[in-house]
Amino acid sequence: MGLETYWKKRDFKKTPEPRGRVAKRNLRRFVVQEHHASHLHFDFRLEVGGVLKSWSVRKGPTLDPDERRLAVETEDHPVEYAKFEGRIPAGEYGGGEHMIWDEGKYEMADGADALAQYEAGRMKFDLEGKKLRGTFNLIRLGSREGQWLLIKSRDEYAQKGWELELRVADDEAAKRWRGAGAGRGARAGAKKEGVKKFSTRRKGDAETFAAGKLFKSKELKGDVNVKVGTAVVPLTSLDRVYFPAAKLTKGDLVRYYYEVSDHILPYLKDRPLIMKRYPAGIKGQSFHQHDVNEAPDFVRTVPLEVEDGGGHTVDYVVGDSTATLLYMANLGAIERHPWHSRARNLDRPDWFVFDLDPGEGVRFETICEVAATTRRILERLGLESYPKTSGSRGLHIYVPIKAAYGYDEIADFAARVAGLIAAEHPEAATVERSKSKRGKRTIYVDHMQNARGKSVVAPYSVRPREGAPVSAPLTWREVEAKRITPQDFTIENVLARVRAKGDLFRDVLANKQTLGDAVKKLGALSAEPKARASRA
Ligand code: MN
Repeated sequence: MGLETYWKKRDFKKTPEPRGRVAKRNLRRFVVQEHHASHLHFDFRLEVGGVLKSWSVRKGPTLDPDERRLAVETEDHPVEYAKFEGRIPAGEYGGGEHMIWDEGKYEMADGADALAQYEAGRMKFDLEGKKLRGTFNLIRLGSREGQWLLIKSRDEYAQKGWELELRVADDEAAKRWRGAGAGRGARAGAKKEGVKKFSTRRKGDAETFAAGKLFKSKELKGDVNVKVGTAVVPLTSLDRVYFPAAKLTKGDLVRYYYEVSDHILPYLKDRPLIMKRYPAGIKGQSFHQHDVNEAPDFVRTVPLEVEDGGGHTVDYVVGDSTATLLYMANLGAIERHPWHSRARNLDRPDWFVFDLDPGEGVRFETICEVAATTRRILERLGLESYPKTSGSRGLHIYVPIKAAYGYDEIADFAARVAGLIAAEHPEAATVERSKSKRGKRTIYVDHMQNARGKSVVAPYSVRPREGAPVSAPLTWREVEAKRITPQDFTIENVLARVRAKGDLFRDVLANKQTLGDAVKKLGALSAEPKARASRA
């Protein structure tokens, strides 16, 4: 057990990787690093005997016990490597972007000795990470040198069909890496050159149709170009199944966004969007993409400073046109996640949101009751609020405001209101952030999504769940009557509902409420004795 091989393979004048040394203590850490080298892979590392025992797992670990992952043993790494993130320069060993995908502690099952099990070629351990949890096994294949299998045990953390999510799309990592002057060993955050805009008007093989005509046809398949206004949007693989249970395709998703565009666009107008892509549908791999490197010329983008301490600039898509809506759907972006503020007034949100997020087994009726309380408390503060389904299992309650307050001010106000809501339902609701600390059967009154750069799914956005549910605006009467459920609204029926009822959320854009009085009233309300606040 030593680091000689590790040191020999690297030139520490060129690589930012730590030199490190053999540790005396064992802190039982594990780490999985996403490594965008010549081939994307995951490095799985366990702290054993003063070093990180390391395996390269091409497809990454999985929580699915029926999947066995080949794990090829690599040289021991120093324990310091558990914290390593950065760019290994091109031409150096393992050149490419390297980042932590998951980390935490491990315990050997039944208190066994890790080194002894490693030497015997059969390790069984429990992981306590953010993504990986529960029991895993590493089993050396007798016949092949250095080859092991990584297998999840069948326990309460096992998940059939679990899909790994990359932190960064592989092609994006490669581009960022090249853009940052990888050859000079530049660190993350080198200035990028902005978004490369390209024209989509050149004729390819695909046929071009007018949008009105194309989306009337029953079945959308293959690759076509669609003309929306002056923009030409290339659409690809439209017959790919995105929502298997309902047999809905990418074409159905694109068509929905075309048809709902008049209703959803007002909520996206001038707002940066956070993109999560599901290029293979909801059962496939997905990844977040905040930063856009290239986009068709009709897509508006804004460069924003992000607050990660490095003064980085990230180019966001601004989702304000039908063409952009379709372009994003074609990238596999199922949801629309707008910022709470607009690009031209980025530090002043014009709404904030309470996300009532239920734990397992919470009845929807109970969520409706907590929502009704939220409305009542806000009314006592002189504020109107507006409910919609999350499209998942909960409800979102919007409070529109004049874009005159800072994110911190709003977050503070929302936190105090959330506290009052939870206090009125001590059994059913909580503001406890830690999932493990709050009871399974409670509703989390999530006010944390109101920070700068966070987002809540837009009204009329599709959600990446079976049945293609949509986040649907509701009337308070519907909530209070408790006759609806979030599953009632899908891409197959929401349009008919909007046509019949109009846009129930329209006041969210028009009702520019001020907070001055509400803050004063909140002070008085919070000071009331508990018995009154909870309407004993
Ligand atoms: Mn690697």
